[in-house]
Amino acid sequence: MKPLFHPALVNDPFGDPGLYIDFLFARRALLFDLGDLRQLPSRKLLRVSHIFVSHTHVDHFIGFDHLVRVCLGRDKKIHLYGPPGFVDQVWHRLAAYTWNLVQNYPTDFTVVAAEAHPDGKVMVAEFHCRKGFMPEQVRAETLHDGVLLDEQAFRVRSAFLDHRIPCLAFALEEKNHVNIMKNRLAELGLAVGPWLTELKEAVLRGEPDEFQFRAWWRGESGVVERRIPLGELKREILRIVPGQKIAYVTDCAYTPDNAERIVAISRRSIRGRRSRCAGSWRRPLQRGEFLRESGEDDESGVCRRGRDNFLPGHHHVLVSGMRRQTSAGRRGGGN
Ligand SMILES: [Zn+2]
Repeated sequence: MKPLFHPALVNDPFGDPGLYIDFLFARRALLFDLGDLRQLPSRKLLRVSHIFVSHTHVDHFIGFDHLVRVCLGRDKKIHLYGPPGFVDQVWHRLAAYTWNLVQNYPTDFTVVAAEAHPDGKVMVAEFHCRKGFMPEQVRAETLHDGVLLDEQAFRVRSAFLDHRIPCLAFALEEKNHVNIMKNRLAELGLAVGPWLTELKEAVLRGEPDEFQFRAWWRGESGVVERRIPLGELKREILRIVPGQKIAYVTDCAYTPDNAERIVAISRRSIRGRRSRCAGSWRRPLQRGEFLRESGEDDESGVCRRGRDNFLPGHHHVLVSGMRRQTSAGRRGGGN
């Protein structure tokens, strides 16, 4: 199975927190936390569509200016999510600069900031480059089951943790993963083509099995087209398996309440998927508790850094669902 999400930490284990999730075959990425982004090439940063900020301690948010600098002058809209107070903080960061030269830009780089509240309310505001990044379209929305972003193929869920301030944990959940068994195509008299992508999308949209799907491709004498029930295609050439799940948890204190919430958001949604964790923990017991409770039975990807990592004021990044071993520590400047 080719995974849809390709996660990588932005910085080395002692650098600022930041998890970059690249999408397979798509010029798109997500970012969890906005620490120092200078290690991230601009071409990769420009793929980012949505950014999820756990809290605004400086080492989790200082990359915001770099982001604005790279995106300025481009036709781009970036969505940011953060904890209570986040919209004002985004505004203040933007208001720290003078924007008298941007009104005539041919493009309108836009930041859409949303702050989640524990009572399920979300405050949203837009900041348009051409308007000097003044807040506009301020509105209140409602969060359902902690879901900040819900798209056809995936969703991002959030949970509040205690870091002596509200600190968000996130889970990126692929809804289903559709594999195409290309070796079966020829047996059915079908050929590869863009219709296979359309087929995946139809399945993820939840089209009914009776839906007459249009399979088409370019043959030697023009376009070849066939209508086949979606249910038959699902049965004959598709394999639909549980999707990836990646949890991002950082900084919070080790309290029973935090532990319960981390376990809940990290828990594998589907039994049987093996995945790996990366993190830094004070004691193996704590690491093991999380792994066991969240259903992570493969510890081969776990690494531990430092002796006092699970104390207030230190970083603890738990990233479950990653495929290679990484860890995160701290360089200083935040807490
Ligand atoms: Zn912090």
